[in-house]
Amino acid sequence: MNKSILLKDGFIVLPEKTLEGSIRICCETIIALGDLTPLEDETVIDCSGCYLLPGGIETHTHLDLESMGTVTADDFRSGTRSALAGGTTTVIDFATQFHGESMARGLERWHEKADGKSAIDYGFHMAMTEWNQNLRREMASVVDGGITSFKMYMAYKGRMMVQEDDIYEALEEAGRLGATIGFHCENGLLIDLLTRRIRGEGHLSPYYHQMTRPDEIEGEAIDRLETVVYLLHTNHYIVHLSTARGLSSILRARERGNQVVVETCPQYLLLDHSRYGTPEGDDFEAAKYIMSPPLRDRRDQEALWQGLASGGIQFVGTDHCSFNFIGQKEMGRHDFSAIPNGAPGIELRMNLLYAYGVVRGRMDINRFSVVTSTNAAKYFGLFPRKGILQVGSDADIVVFDPRAEWTVSSDLLHDNCDYTPYEGFALKGRVRDVFLRGSHKVASGKIISENTDGRYMRRALPDSDIR
Ligand SMILES: [Zn+2]
Repeated sequence: MNKSILLKDGFIVLPEKTLEGSIRICCETIIALGDLTPLEDETVIDCSGCYLLPGGIETHTHLDLESMGTVTADDFRSGTRSALAGGTTTVIDFATQFHGESMARGLERWHEKADGKSAIDYGFHMAMTEWNQNLRREMASVVDGGITSFKMYMAYKGRMMVQEDDIYEALEEAGRLGATIGFHCENGLLIDLLTRRIRGEGHLSPYYHQMTRPDEIEGEAIDRLETVVYLLHTNHYIVHLSTARGLSSILRARERGNQVVVETCPQYLLLDHSRYGTPEGDDFEAAKYIMSPPLRDRRDQEALWQGLASGGIQFVGTDHCSFNFIGQKEMGRHDFSAIPNGAPGIELRMNLLYAYGVVRGRMDINRFSVVTSTNAAKYFGLFPRKGILQVGSDADIVVFDPRAEWTVSSDLLHDNCDYTPYEGFALKGRVRDVFLRGSHKVASGKIISENTDGRYMRRALPDSDIR
């Protein structure tokens, strides 16, 4: 028999309550939980004073993505290593079908990118960059391959943007299959117009990126999406919600009976548009925060925190889409519209949410585990294998020390990006140990296993009954 490991005397965090006790793991799974006495020959890890949390599930990354004439700084190797150090044991990345190709081809490429390189378990969403009847016919076989969530973009005119007729047909097909579609909600036509106008006026510094995408641009797209959903009543979700305006659209749609599932990101909870400087300034540092949607204001942050705590928002992904400041963000030094969009964040998701959510009293530790793991596991068809500490589930466990205090600095992180948007953030609490299917991967905050034995996860259909 394989030797077991006992995570002894921690606070076991469940969705509705916290238990004092221990967890025994063996052969990749949790085999016992509660008041346990060490067995002879068992490895015992003292967890006193620490939380035992279900391994984090990251719902939104772009690893090894070709975009705007370059490729993201992180591939599956560096990106998942960084995730692991931050307590994330499963990532769902956006496999992308590029224009003119089949989803099968896009998927094949993503399997090649990830195969043998991932430090954590992984699955894919399937991003469609256009809509046609061939794609419609292909959706069933994508779902058969364990990819039960698709993505469409209402932004990026001429590159990826789809409109309501396309959305209607895609949602109709996804509904028939029991799958879901995540939507990037921004009005692509207006962004395109405003970008041309603003550039035409000679405004080219990074400050102006946000001016092409005011908050109404997100809210209006959500209203339009929800109109289509109202006609079909199908499963769908909204990726990276960034505004109070958008959240109020969602609440209104729910009142009319639409079931809307929502993701937000740490950057929209914690960073604001002051990072873009001033119209007069030409500090290129602002390029570090060029992402879409852009950073908003403090009022939006508070609305999103409240949504997260109260069940208005269901989970947190990072939209980790990293480009180095030197050499990549610099491609847009003389034109904000040429700055690759995106920022890193995969490693800090759990730590930031704990320090600014739980420690600040915005949510309790149970809600924290739900929005960083359980809800994503349910919605993305991984539950109860992932997302919960219970007998029979995968032993994906984070030992989190709430007493630790530290300050974020780019050189402490494991990603392959030359900056972090959270540089200098003072954090309370830290991921101490991480287990992936019972294997001890992080100890005392250090990665102790370089194995890239993360497995591809075929996912079941979404369970949208989450709060
Ligand atoms: Zn994204």
